[in-house]
Amino acid sequence: MRVIVQKFGGTSVASPEVRELVMRKIAKARDQGFNPVVVVSAMGRQGAPYATDTLIGVARTAYKNIAARELDQIMYCGEMISAVVMAGTLQAAGMDAVMLTGGHAGIITDANFTDARILKCDPTRLISLLKQRKVPVVCGFQGMTAENEFTTLGRGGSDTTAAALGAALNAEMVEIYTDVDGIMTADPRIVNNAKILDCISYGEVCQLAHQGAKVIHPRAVEIAMQKNIPLIVKSTFSDAPGTLITNIAKEDTVGADVIDRVATGVTYLTNIVQIKVQLDDAAGNDASFQVFKTMADSGISVDLINVHPGQIMFTINADHAERALVKLKRQGYEIEVLENCAKVSVVGGGMREVPGVMASFIEALTKNRIAILQTVDSHTSISALVPHSDVETAVKSLHEKFSLSN
Ligand code: ADP
Ligand code: ASP
Ligand code: MG
Repeated sequence: MRVIVQKFGGTSVASPEVRELVMRKIAKARDQGFNPVVVVSAMGRQGAPYATDTLIGVARTAYKNIAARELDQIMYCGEMISAVVMAGTLQAAGMDAVMLTGGHAGIITDANFTDARILKCDPTRLISLLKQRKVPVVCGFQGMTAENEFTTLGRGGSDTTAAALGAALNAEMVEIYTDVDGIMTADPRIVNNAKILDCISYGEVCQLAHQGAKVIHPRAVEIAMQKNIPLIVKSTFSDAPGTLITNIAKEDTVGADVIDRVATGVTYLTNIVQIKVQLDDAAGNDASFQVFKTMADSGISVDLINVHPGQIMFTINADHAERALVKLKRQGYEIEVLENCAKVSVVGGGMREVPGVMASFIEALTKNRIAILQTVDSHTSISALVPHSDVETAVKSLHEKFSLSN
């Protein structure tokens, strides 16, 4: 059986006209001999009546800090509505479509509400439906605990659903349909001459996604990579071929497009707070260990870490800042906090051991008088913490410096 998973994001299911385009993509896959499994996100973006952000807003009118379990019980509803409407659209077109929740589709998660991890994916029910030539329409983003509690997989998690189903069904490919023609060298909302990448490795796209490129969820890439299932990011609104994500480069693009490129893309993360903790010199390494342990015990992940004698510096997501500061102050630490920061990164498998990459990175920022608050680099990325007000200029300038435009 030739299985294809086709995932459609929020903008791809937002109106009857667009759902018609979706129906045609599914019909085409069937005509080509595939058995499609459809995964849908909640309809529309912020402001749309059943979008995830709207549902979160409803829950938070009662209490801003509503518990994660209760938040999940409203968040998963967006995908329910969307999958019912999409199944109806397919039925109207003569297809035998069956709406399934994440749990129906076999997705079992832990109980980490709002950011649950998939523990197991049992495709038995999906396989049985596919054998009957039915078209399963699965709610993205949803899981189910072993105790039958609904969970969600983290924002953007419908991609993760699609990859998990693709892996469980050993699909020939997983198509991620969205509102752009593929993965680009930067977010087109910031860089208007960003280029579509024909082909990209799992590793590179994982880095881009972890560093903020929201076009695909990093966990989806990690799951697909484990089973070597090709992912294709493409547009619902065009027939452009999209971006192929695999282990190996497509034969016809080996060379100029893949192996030789130093940088693949520029990305950014916002809503970051930098924390500096002054330490007693005499306390040595144990004191820095205690600070990081405090963060870990509070379930707060830290990034951009610099440890110096007498001072440590790190960043956290601003949503956790209040909690982190309370804990650290309670332990008597002297703290300095810098709010409204952003992290800008250049990602690329080809920057390993290439001289001058860091110099170019710094030059692109300093020539625009952008303050560099902290930096970190690895074999495949360079990142800097900058003031939030400079993030757009930083992304544009790095994109130009690394010659990523058309
Ligand atoms: P969907 O609802 O289809 O999952 P998302 O909003 O999650 O859509 O992702 C698509 C958006 O990701 C695009 O509209 C684009 O603005 C944004 N984006 C950010 N970085 C990139 C990038 N490097 N390439 C393409 N799109 C990007
Ligand atoms: N609807 C969910 C969200 O907005 C999941 C998704 O779109 O992938 O985060
Ligand atoms: Mg998305």
